[in-house]
Amino acid sequence: MKAFQYHTPGQPPSVTTVPDPEPGPGQVVVKVEAAGVCHSDEVIMGLPADRLWFPLPLTLGHEAAGTVAALGPGVEAVRTGDAVAVHGAWGCGACRTCALGRENYCPHTERLGIHSPGLGAPGAIAEYLLVDSARHLVPLDGLDPVRAVPLTDAGLTPYHAVKRVLHRLVPGSTAVVIGVGGLGHLGVQILRALSAATVVALDVAEEKLALARACGAHRTLLSDERAADGIRELTDGLGAEVVLDFVANDATLRTAAKAVAKEGEIAVVGLGGGRLGLAAGRVPYGVTASVPYWGTRPELAEVLALGRLGELDVHIETYGIDEAPLAYERLHAGKITGRAVILPGA
Ligand code: NAD
Ligand code: ZN
Ligand code: ZN
Repeated sequence: MKAFQYHTPGQPPSVTTVPDPEPGPGQVVVKVEAAGVCHSDEVIMGLPADRLWFPLPLTLGHEAAGTVAALGPGVEAVRTGDAVAVHGAWGCGACRTCALGRENYCPHTERLGIHSPGLGAPGAIAEYLLVDSARHLVPLDGLDPVRAVPLTDAGLTPYHAVKRVLHRLVPGSTAVVIGVGGLGHLGVQILRALSAATVVALDVAEEKLALARACGAHRTLLSDERAADGIRELTDGLGAEVVLDFVANDATLRTAAKAVAKEGEIAVVGLGGGRLGLAAGRVPYGVTASVPYWGTRPELAEVLALGRLGELDVHIETYGIDEAPLAYERLHAGKITGRAVILPGA
């Protein structure tokens, strides 16, 4: 089958031919109808070889939706032909955290060498994806796999981040979204669907601010050194109860620290590698900072349900698998509107 693989540090990934996966006991092979392109792949491909935690080559892609193509011995929870989304945050499946569906925080993954697809295990930008267990599959139940696939990460990650801070987002509060890309454009819509907060979106590109407004942001601001003052003006000097930073470089974390209200929360979601000083004088008193990761399996079911309710307008650009290099070039150049989705069967 065709697979889009990262081969050599510093070299662009390319389409190659690899053997079709065979399901072992408990495993499921999914025919990939759609695979999303996440900025985290850029982050991984920017790492030097000695910081990679898996061997190369690696098939990229950690957002997947498709149909069940083959079942390993003992699999009963799904049948061939089922339309499914893949929950990609794989844990051990046996510990207390995993029993709660919170496999994104399984404490045993490093020790057991468990990797998510596209983040160490063979990924989704291929004709078929080997899924380690049927428990990682969530029914699409009528959702179009191409429009729904970004919900497995670009939707799930902000959904999880927003749910963690929802108690702060009472009427009259303000939530700031920094970075209106794949995650941010869904983050804005999730905030609007789940809360009564005023949503302020920041980005460096005018067209991304237009996307934010189309997604329901009440106010938009250019993300520069004046942005924090702008947020303070919009909040009568009080600051924002919640700042969701989907970039998290030094500049945006500086904005977050200056724009957050007393007792507010900064969720550091982006992998921009910036530093946030958490000490008296660096952030207002009472501030909490968190580093949420991906989302839980129940939350994936919830975010798909939100999609079914018509609350999420997922903006996508589609590419055949042979055009995957172009999708990554456009991602690198910051040119994607919403999410790039690869259609390996097209
Ligand atoms: P993306 O490339 O689709 O979007 C990034 C957006 O940020 C773009 O609109 C870009 O214009 C904007 N941007 C760039 N610099 C900016 C700045 N200084 N101020 C404001 N906006 C700026 O990326 P994505 O796929 O949505 O991912 C966003 C981030 O989240 C990435 O760092 C990614 O690695 C990370 N991520 C984290 C998790 C997690 O679980 N923590 C999960 C998925 C992705
Ligand atoms: Zn991702
Ligand atoms: Zn576990």
